[in-house]
Amino acid sequence: MVKGSVRPVMTDITTDIAIIGAGPAGLFMVFEAGFLGYSSTVIDALPQAGGQLSALYPDKPIYDIPGYPKILAGDLVAKLQGQAAPYKPTYVLGEPVLTLTGVAGDLTLKTENHTIQAKAVVIAGGGGMFTPRKPVGLDNLENFEDAGSVLYAITHKEALRGHTVVLAGGGDSAVDWAVELAGIAAHVHVVHRRADFRAAPETVRQMMALVDTGKITLHTPAQLKALHGDDGALASLTLADVDGAETEIVASKLICCFGIAPQKGPFAAWGVTEEKGKLPVDPSTMMTNVPGILAIGDIADYGHKLHLILQGFAEAAVAAKTLQALIDPDKKFKVQYSTSKGVPEV
Ligand SMILES: Cc1cc2nc3c(=O)[nH]c(=O)nc-3n(C[C@H](O)[C@H](O)[C@H](O)COP(=O)(O)OP(=O)(O)OC[C@H]3O[C@@H](n4cnc5c(N)ncnc54)[C@H](O)[C@@H]3O)c2cc1C
Repeated sequence: MVKGSVRPVMTDITTDIAIIGAGPAGLFMVFEAGFLGYSSTVIDALPQAGGQLSALYPDKPIYDIPGYPKILAGDLVAKLQGQAAPYKPTYVLGEPVLTLTGVAGDLTLKTENHTIQAKAVVIAGGGGMFTPRKPVGLDNLENFEDAGSVLYAITHKEALRGHTVVLAGGGDSAVDWAVELAGIAAHVHVVHRRADFRAAPETVRQMMALVDTGKITLHTPAQLKALHGDDGALASLTLADVDGAETEIVASKLICCFGIAPQKGPFAAWGVTEEKGKLPVDPSTMMTNVPGILAIGDIADYGHKLHLILQGFAEAAVAAKTLQALIDPDKKFKVQYSTSKGVPEV
């Protein structure tokens, strides 16, 4: 979190724009709304800002952000918060938005501890309130989770230095992390229930090269059968192959990369049309079917939509224009250059 970018939260908040989701789209929405003179409150179910970038891949480099040939996802989040900071957003983190009532111009959102009064709402809910898919049938899994031996995301890869790490899964996350951690961990085991990997062929090729050098050991097809260790400190794991034959491997960390199971959002209950987990919008306004409720970023859908960070940024700019038309209908919208207007001093 960028120092000075978070104001103390209050029980009752009055704001121009309530932004649901502190992913990259929601964070840039703060800037675009602020540039037009509107205050924002950003609410997220996760305890930290950044959406998928913070929750799933903070240490991974992103290569397709304009102006940054390469930037770590976590660093991009910090920069977006820094860019939003002049407009003094209020953050309500760690609390899902439960209800939304009212009409455009006078909307009320409720979280567990806050009531937020807003003139308009922008849903930047990404893939929904996601929770990691967990392995099934492992005794005492919770103890190992509580002790930090079983992880579902890597938020600080240096914490894994010197550990013998087991990565379970066969998609991009498992294979990417196997390659990345091969240079940090004492040894990396990859456990996957199929013989082939769904990850990008180039990364699979890199992983296979590391298998050849002895830095990574593959266990395929195999599944997690049991975890062993005292007080949640992982000491070893039992794996079972398709015939039920068991192998025990010594390891101190298990990272499960089984993907995320997005929890269905509450949006349909608010009257917002939802199709296959996405919210259809008019891309010229980013308005949903409910007046006063807009959607941007991964959750917003229309023909030829690209689910990329940069698309969410552009949608925030379009949404800001719509917000001005909603909040100040008599004001003529005029594109303003940031070079001419500048931003408030932080
Ligand atoms: C491994 C990986 C690598 C990727 N690499 C790239 C890349 O290189 N380039 C690229 O452009 N894209 C990449 N992406 C995709 C990119 O991360 C998404 O496009 C981007 O995160 C979407 O941003 P967003 O703000 O729309 O939503 P998200 O980042 O998903 O954030 C949405 C937030 O909304 C919150 N939320 C949802 N519902 C509620 C609710 N009811 N109440 C409160 N909070 C709620 C969620 O908790 C979440 O924090 C990658 C994705 C993954 C998984």
